[in-house]
Amino acid sequence: MAKDWKLPRKGSCRCGALSIEVTVAPMMTAACHCRGCQKMASSAYSLTMMVPEDGFAVTSGEPVLGGLKGEEVQHFFCPSCLTWVFSKPKRLPGFVNLRSSMLDDTSDIAPFIETCTEDKLAFAETGAPRSFEKFPGPDDFGPLLQAFGEWVAR
Ligand SMILES: [Zn+2]
Ligand SMILES: [Zn+2]
Repeated sequence: MAKDWKLPRKGSCRCGALSIEVTVAPMMTAACHCRGCQKMASSAYSLTMMVPEDGFAVTSGEPVLGGLKGEEVQHFFCPSCLTWVFSKPKRLPGFVNLRSSMLDDTSDIAPFIETCTEDKLAFAETGAPRSFEKFPGPDDFGPLLQAFGEWVAR
């Protein structure tokens, strides 16, 4: 990730029916090794870009809810190809967790933190400089945002 982050950034699901646009730089990037992400991403971990909701737009298609419903996070999928595109954590209103791999240009995407390493598959490496066995606590959040800003500007 570079500090001259190119904006706006466009992205889409696997089939292209659902497209999105990001107009604000991310506040955090992450890889999550939790079992839920392993299953929903059909992979070793999920990739996340946390962006303010007012810097994120669905530009075509109507996302549908999927994944584990009724939990603290709403997961949004393409209605046609059922790709997991973004999530909204209810405990963090005003933010969207976009799956970074949806972006058209992923050349500068990298996770700053990795979470739930206690569930990490043995081979899985993300290169993230900060690791958490579970999720960072509420008190970690401010310092982490600051550290992310410095990391992006490095
Ligand atoms: Zn699709
Ligand atoms: Zn997860």
